[in-house]
Amino acid sequence: MADASVHSHHDLEQAYLIGLDRPGRESGQKKSREDSFQDSLEELAALARTAGIRVVGRLCQRRNPHPQTYLGPGKVKELAQILAPDPITLIFDDELTPGQQRNLEQFFGEQVKIVDRTTLILDIFAQHAHSKEGQLQVELAQYRYRLPRLTRMWTHLVRQAGSRAGGSSGGVGLRGPGETQLETDRRQIRRRLAGLKQELEQVRRTRRLHLERRNRQGIKTVTLVGYTNSGKSSLLNALNKRYGTQKGNVKVADQLFSTLDPVSRRIRLPSGTRIIVTDTVGFINKLPHALIAAFRATLEGIEKADLLLHICDISDGRMEKQIQAVNTVLATLGVAGKPTLLVQNKLDLMDGDTTFQARRDMTFQAGRDIDFQAGRDHRLAISALNGSGIKALAERIEQVLKMDLIQVKLSIPYSAEGLKNRVFEEGSVEWYRHDEKGTRIHAFVPSRLVEALKAYTLS
Ligand code: GDP
Ligand code: MG
Repeated sequence: MADASVHSHHDLEQAYLIGLDRPGRESGQKKSREDSFQDSLEELAALARTAGIRVVGRLCQRRNPHPQTYLGPGKVKELAQILAPDPITLIFDDELTPGQQRNLEQFFGEQVKIVDRTTLILDIFAQHAHSKEGQLQVELAQYRYRLPRLTRMWTHLVRQAGSRAGGSSGGVGLRGPGETQLETDRRQIRRRLAGLKQELEQVRRTRRLHLERRNRQGIKTVTLVGYTNSGKSSLLNALNKRYGTQKGNVKVADQLFSTLDPVSRRIRLPSGTRIIVTDTVGFINKLPHALIAAFRATLEGIEKADLLLHICDISDGRMEKQIQAVNTVLATLGVAGKPTLLVQNKLDLMDGDTTFQARRDMTFQAGRDIDFQAGRDHRLAISALNGSGIKALAERIEQVLKMDLIQVKLSIPYSAEGLKNRVFEEGSVEWYRHDEKGTRIHAFVPSRLVEALKAYTLS
């Protein structure tokens, strides 16, 4: 069967990338439009490589998406002629509507596999999810995405490919939910969806309990966010190597999305503060909404975090856009206002680069709106690779965490003079009055004082 060569064990799956260069912006912005169109295709190529696909060609058209066929009908015909009679995969740089997908599949026939950006990303996620929760989330997102797109072609290919979540057979777009599910009808898929949701809820409940216990222990959490491949996992390793209380490295790879499951490490900062640092999945431009929704729970770590470290790659010319893409996702998650340190990583690559200073200044501007404490510079340059700046970063984290104050109302007896003095020295007192029992105080105090003040706190 012809499909066998697509799924050959020896050859990589081969694909064409298909993109659109959308017109419709003022000519003054031409340069940046072309840039972002090229960047988007570059990223798609990197995604394809991560999924184990060999990109053999690219095709782009200057137009807005055609409602029925994405590319214009003429271009579709042209493409059909270019394509060899061999099986090939077409990867589209946007999310295709179910209608576009169906039309393209019908037009190109069974030799050509139609894959869109979202399917590709979901596929990579399926390959990289290792925790129970991660696998459930991806499977759920894949089913939801595929349900309206189920066609004869899918089941036809899947029957031959038959793979399980995380498996590698079947090629792109077909990893994840296995043949038995996809061969069945939609009603059964819906039933599976409901089952998955229940299972996921169970796993989440357990994790939430862990989180709550941690919060009760008063340990601060710091969460790493940032564009994929910016060096989040490397930084976690660097922090862990110096300050970790349990050893063990996190996987680092020059790949998009090598970390999917949140990994945490216990860290003891230079002057003794204990924190938990959590790595997260990297963000990316055009991150499918299906995925943001699916990973909301994993990203819960971000919501609960006391501090975010936004890692960016200072050696990447697209850093500005990447910072913005991350900020957009953070806003979608409703955490844009969280205390955030912008950490510029890969400083080692900038040695002797004369454009470095200029680029650095640009980041400072880009990072301005996420600066949360007026008048303070919360941006640092580091190298997770050679360790430069790590100590300064650790100290800064400690400093920032100490700044967070909790509002309390107290009544401290005169016998606890020392404690009262600490509130005045370390906290910020709004109001106080001496009465017959002692001193009544309304204040903001550092969280480390809260425990000691518990006995004297008025509810
Ligand atoms: P993540 O996707 O954000 O977790 O990024 P990783 O930690 O997996 O790193 C992505 C790639 O960047 C890997 O090849 C790392 O070796 C490399 N990398 C990370 N930090 C640095 C750094 O400070 N300097 C250099 N030169 N490379 C780095
Ligand atoms: Mg990582």
